Amino acid sequence: MSTPNLLMIPGPIGLTSDVLRALSEPQRGHLDPVFMQSYGRALKRLREVFVAPAAQPFIVSGSGTLAMEMSVANLIQPGDKALVVNTGYFSDRIATMLELHGAQVTQVKAEPGDVASLDEVERALSSTAFKVMTITHVDTSTAVLAPVRELAALARKHGALVVVDGVCSVGGEALEMDAWGVDVAFTASQKALGAPPGLAVLLASPRALETWKARTKPVASMYLDFAQWLPIQQAYEAGTPSYFATPAVNLIMALEVSLGELVAETMPVRVARHQRLARAARAAWSALGLASLTKRPEVTAHTLSALKYPAGVDASLVKHVGAQGVNIAGGLHPALKTTYFRVGHMGAASGGTLLETVGALERGLTAAGHRFEAGVGVAALERALVAR
Ligand code: PMP
Repeated sequence: MSTPNLLMIPGPIGLTSDVLRALSEPQRGHLDPVFMQSYGRALKRLREVFVAPAAQPFIVSGSGTLAMEMSVANLIQPGDKALVVNTGYFSDRIATMLELHGAQVTQVKAEPGDVASLDEVERALSSTAFKVMTITHVDTSTAVLAPVRELAALARKHGALVVVDGVCSVGGEALEMDAWGVDVAFTASQKALGAPPGLAVLLASPRALETWKARTKPVASMYLDFAQWLPIQQAYEAGTPSYFATPAVNLIMALEVSLGELVAETMPVRVARHQRLARAARAAWSALGLASLTKRPEVTAHTLSALKYPAGVDASLVKHVGAQGVNIAGGLHPALKTTYFRVGHMGAASGGTLLETVGALERGLTAAGHRFEAGVGVAALERALVAR
């Protein structure tokens, strides 16, 4: 098999050697004591990663979209009102999902690359009683970072449950679920958690579970229903055998290892590392004359960058950079996708992988016809990394 390129797309991301080793363990059954302990530890570690000692974690086979739908299916009953703070493609997705599950959806939208002001969100919250407000912490389509702490405080003030799509944030951006009053936060295994794709991860606050228990209509899906999964999560955490649907044994064991790496690094240190790497990356982008798609630094993610193609360069840049050994991603926002590209820098990303990426980007930009002094991006990156 050929060696793949360095993977610098915004998920899935490169895996550490310990995570890879966990994946190559012999197959175990889902009631094997070693696996049961591993699952239990993974659940406990999620409370540390989400800074949510009071929350109930769920790990379910599926991708981030499944975790998103699990949050909607369990909290929403037909006719409920939901407010979506829309920052792009993935906010559109949860809005559609909320409607499919019967919610009356109001959206507060910003232009691509920005977040609506707190005043606008508060005006919407004051207009009617919403059961739920959703926030996309990092919209991966545009690299917009939403101010979850401030938005969650507003929603709480107005009595709405807070649902956070943390798919491109958890494990890289600051999120303190309990302290910030977040009721449901979800992610997927393949982004800043540093495991392969295939697991949906969701944490529910006691308030979210009470809301689910108080439903008057059943959840219209067996696979998504907390009622199926809650006893299973509790059993694995207690080390007792239980079965609803076969868990992804090997993926969960790999996730347990990656979560162990997060917990060992500690969340504040990990968040600061992502911020440092993002600052260094931004120094390289500006030295190369690449403008961010986001409108302001305060709304710019630290887990990925979304950059406009410079004049005269088109989407073939992604292929040119790939030919230099590094995979980056094209645009995703429907209205703008041919105008920008994205570079992931989360999880195990380091000064070393960023140097390789900026070097490949320089060679790719040159092949695509962009003119600049060779090495300026690499030099700016290196200076920022050294300056810390
Ligand atoms: N939300 C966000 C913010 C995402 O970035 C993604 C995936 N890129 C999703 C939801 C959906 O996750 P998945 O592709 O794992 O279903």
